[in-house]
Amino acid sequence: MTARILDGKVLSLTIQSEIATAAEQLKREHNIVPGLAVILVGDDPASQVYVRNKAKACERVGFHSKTFALPSETAQKYIMDLIKELNKDNAIHGILVQLPLPHHIDENAIINAINTDKDVDGFHPINVGRMVIGKEDCFLPCTPFGIQTLMMRNGIETGGRHVVIVGRSNIVGKPTAIILMQKAVGADATVTVCHSRTKNLPEIVRQGDIVIAAIGRANFVTADMVSPGAVVIDVGINRVKDFSTKTGYALVGDVDFENVKEVASAITPVPGGIGPMTIAMLLFNTLKAARKTLK
Ligand code: NDP
Repeated sequence: MTARILDGKVLSLTIQSEIATAAEQLKREHNIVPGLAVILVGDDPASQVYVRNKAKACERVGFHSKTFALPSETAQKYIMDLIKELNKDNAIHGILVQLPLPHHIDENAIINAINTDKDVDGFHPINVGRMVIGKEDCFLPCTPFGIQTLMMRNGIETGGRHVVIVGRSNIVGKPTAIILMQKAVGADATVTVCHSRTKNLPEIVRQGDIVIAAIGRANFVTADMVSPGAVVIDVGINRVKDFSTKTGYALVGDVDFENVKEVASAITPVPGGIGPMTIAMLLFNTLKAARKTLK
C-alpha cells in the first residue's frame, strides 16, 4: 500500500481563494480591507523566508500588509512602542511577531503587549485560555489550526481515534493536543503527547491511528514506528545537507517519508504539507480579526 499524499499546498491555495472572495465582499459591503502587520527582528534566513511568504500571501488575497524588518540589536522598548502604535492603527487588524526573537528580548512581554483582538497567531495568554476552554471567539494558533483543517478537508475522521503527537512545544505540540481533544467537530480525539522524556516512544507512536510529528529532527519517525494504515502528519522543517541541490541543502520533515508512505494510509509531504496550511490559517485569522471590527 502506498499512502495518499495530503497536499497542503493545493488546499492552502483553495482556502486562499475562498478568503480572497470573502475579503472582496468585506471591502464591497463595509469598505474594510483586512490588514496584517508583521514584525521581524534580526536576520535569521528561515524567518526572512517565512515573513516574505506571509507578505506575498496577503497580496494574493487582497489584504493590506506591512512588514517591519528591524535589526537584531533593536531595543525591547522600541518593539513595545511599535506594537502600541499598531494596536491603535485602524488599518491593521492582525499583528504577528515572527519568533524566535533575539535573546535580549522578553518574548512573553512582547506577546502580552499585542491587543488580543489582533493576536492572529493566537499566542497571547488570553487567546490560549479561550482555546483551552473551547470558546469560538479565540484565534487558534496557525500551525495546529492548519493541521486540523487539513484533516477535516481531507475527510480524515478524528472522533474517537487515538492521536499520538510527538512534541509538546507551546506553538505546535501542546495546542494541537488541546484542539484535537475538544468536544467538537474535527476533534473528539483521544490524545497522547510524547516528548524527549517519554519512555517506550516507538511503542506509543505505533498505537496511533493518527501520528503528528513536531520534533525538529530529520527522519525521526521511521516506518517501524507507524501502524499499518495510520495517518501521518509531518510538521517538521529541517535543513539537511544535500549536494544534489543548487543550494547544497534540502528541507525535510521529521518523518522518514519514503519508507513511512509505504505503511501509512495518508501522509503529508515536506515541503508542501503543513507549512502552506499555516499561512492559509494566518490569513483566515486576519480576516476573522477584520470582521470582528464590524461588531
Ligand atoms: P521545539 O523545539 O519547540 O519542540 C520540539 C519538541 O520535540 C519538544 O517538545 C521536545 O521535547 C520534542 N523532542 C525533541 N527531541 C526529541 C526526541 N529525541 N524524542 C522525543 N521528543 C523530542 O519545536 P517546535 O514545536 O517549535 O517545532 C517542531 C518542528 O516543527 C520544527 O522542525 C519546526 O521547524 C517545525 N515547525 C513547522 C511549522 C510549519 O508551519 N510547518 C511551524 C512551526 C514549527 P522536550 O519538550 O522534552 O524538549
